[in-house]
Amino acid sequence: MTPFFKIDSRIENASEKALEMCREQFAVIDEITEYNQLKVQKAFIDNGISETHFVSSTGYGYGDRGRETLDKVWAQVFCAEDALVRHNFVCGTHTLATALFGVLRPGDKMVAVTGTPYDTIHGVIGIKGKGMGSLKDYGIEYSEVPLKNDRPDLDGIKDAIKTGATMAYIQRSRGYELRPSLTVEDIEEIVKAVRSVSPDTIIMVDNCYGEFVEKREPLEVGADIIAGSLIKNAGGGIARTGGYIAGRKDLIEKCSYRLTTPGLGKEVGATLGMNRELYMGLFYAPHTVGEALKSAVYISALFSVFGYDVTPKYDEKRADIVQSLGLENEESLVAFCQGVQSGSPIDSYLLPEPWDMPGYDSKVVMAAGAFTLGSSIELSADAPIREPYYAWIQGGLNFHSAKICAKLAAQQMLDKGLLKDGV
Ligand SMILES: *Cc1c(COP(=O)(O)O)cnc(C)c1O
Repeated sequence: MTPFFKIDSRIENASEKALEMCREQFAVIDEITEYNQLKVQKAFIDNGISETHFVSSTGYGYGDRGRETLDKVWAQVFCAEDALVRHNFVCGTHTLATALFGVLRPGDKMVAVTGTPYDTIHGVIGIKGKGMGSLKDYGIEYSEVPLKNDRPDLDGIKDAIKTGATMAYIQRSRGYELRPSLTVEDIEEIVKAVRSVSPDTIIMVDNCYGEFVEKREPLEVGADIIAGSLIKNAGGGIARTGGYIAGRKDLIEKCSYRLTTPGLGKEVGATLGMNRELYMGLFYAPHTVGEALKSAVYISALFSVFGYDVTPKYDEKRADIVQSLGLENEESLVAFCQGVQSGSPIDSYLLPEPWDMPGYDSKVVMAAGAFTLGSSIELSADAPIREPYYAWIQGGLNFHSAKICAKLAAQQMLDKGLLKDGV
């Protein structure tokens, strides 16, 4: 109890109980965080990072040592031959698209082996929209293997890959679906299945929301290329924009020709003073991901104490930082998001309301009070107003801050007479 926020004693009691329930998972998270922190630290030391790597370049950015060495540090951390880490990837979708367009050629075939990919990738592939220059417009074929009972369908994957596939595409995180996220072990099984029928198929992983959640990353179990956003896990809450691609050297080179131009590739790109925060973001990432995971586990425990349906459960093994809460009705979703917003360090005075978002077929209510606009390594909640009335919550730069937001969310629900009384 603190003098700063008014929380009903029933919520405080539920919180105490939730913390007790979290103890075991918190110890697991601490152990993984420390392992990954040391992994990152070693890469900084091995590459001799110094103040000179933070120097700003302009114009073509030729010979920017900070940029070149950042790629090396990143490659070491993610067990890659090479990496492409740039502030001028404008978001995760852009980064993934650069990798897809970089690697695939007309006549190639991409197979999504973990069901339909994340929404924003549909336009890139050409599942949705016309005339935008999608992969489909360039003659790249596409097919997908749906999940089977929410799990990768290994036999279905083998059958699909057997008929000829240039790329098998895996999405590690659940994104905004209720299916379980893939563990690195799950990815390993998919890699084995693909390799057993087609050793040369390129295996790409959308690594968004997955970085540093486990000790191993997808390249360590045989994936060829991974990509992700820097305003999620891998930017540690410090990077204000950007993305990364890591993996096989020949593939990274191809991606670099897509990011800049054929012939120039990685050799150009002014860093404009961004290097320091990209280094610092990577340095912070394992710890920040640990805080986000603790936040997710706590929210899961707290709302299961109240009697709500939660996924993952507080004691389940985590494969990403996303937490879903079944809040059962529109009023509760709105109250929850308003409560989270009211405790955010930035924009606490805003009142989230459901609105029609472009690209969604139902209204959406969102809470986001972040230092970086749209950052989802910072605590944020999104809820489409439709059955089954789930809220998706992710992030948390530090556990204590996320914890009070969760309690304020419950308080807001209680004040409106909506909170279930499982206490
Ligand atoms: C966030 C996300 C993306 C897209 O990233 P943006 O930065 O929103 O463009 C793609 N795939 C997954 C699984 C994600 O979580």
